[in-house]
Amino acid sequence: MGKQREEIFKIIDRRIGNKKPRIIISVPHAGRTIPEDVKQRLAIPLEEAVTRYDEYTEEIALEFADLAVVQIANISKYAINLNRSHVIDELDLGVVFDPVGNYYPANGGLTATPTLEDRDNERLVQLFTHEHTPVWQYDSKNHCYLTEKEIKSRIKRYHRPYHQSLQSLLESAANPVVLIDLHSMSKGPFDLIIGDGRGRSTGSSICQNQLLPFFSESNMLIGYAGYGRRDIRDMPYHHEAIRHSGGYITLNYGNQDRGIYAIQIELNRKTCQDNYGEVIDTLKEFIEFLSNNTKQGGFF
Ligand SMILES: [Zn+2]
Repeated sequence: MGKQREEIFKIIDRRIGNKKPRIIISVPHAGRTIPEDVKQRLAIPLEEAVTRYDEYTEEIALEFADLAVVQIANISKYAINLNRSHVIDELDLGVVFDPVGNYYPANGGLTATPTLEDRDNERLVQLFTHEHTPVWQYDSKNHCYLTEKEIKSRIKRYHRPYHQSLQSLLESAANPVVLIDLHSMSKGPFDLIIGDGRGRSTGSSICQNQLLPFFSESNMLIGYAGYGRRDIRDMPYHHEAIRHSGGYITLNYGNQDRGIYAIQIELNRKTCQDNYGEVIDTLKEFIEFLSNNTKQGGFF
């Protein structure tokens, strides 16, 4: 593995035998590496930048490297958000907000609460911290925080290699295959949220009839927001479940017709902190359950 690739991501596979993987786990927000050129552009202290990542996701994914092939980002999401489309739009260039803070929807309504934080979070490269202070030094020559050229260069160097690798892992996998995109959230009412892009990347019927019932025996509180506005009990989907219903990775790779089922799993960090062992045990059973159902006679 070249040094350059190590800076971006690593692949861990501790499965025994040479069989094609049935489960692939992608961990796009575990990274804490900030390359030199990116460091030089920061307006916030480096110590602060390296603390913003999806805590617990790397160590949890590594617990399952004997069941799945695991790809973990090393690069910080401040350099680039690997769970966003590589297509640069107006939002990425920071021209979406008007002077009074109104915004222009750019994502087809996937986000439940269009706050400034949410909109900024949808960018390939985040421009503001949670406290709404700029992440990057202002480029007074080009009158912006980041030029299109700089974003393009980060896509080429960091985003593309991660996705080329994930794509080739999926191509070399068994069919059907399940892609799990693993994340963690800092707060919220759920212990875990399952996202399939509002029914698009795995299918609401599999999620509602197979995946959610799996967790009914566990003590974990599970969130899910499928297609439409209401669940099978005619209850409106929770806004947190909508908010974490799946990003670019889930939507881009999930393709039921091709036998690729993509699920985003968003873990509550508080739950990970308080009940780590239980989270691991439940997820291990879940991954085994998914894997078994990719075999003949399963629901995938
Ligand atoms: Zn994340």
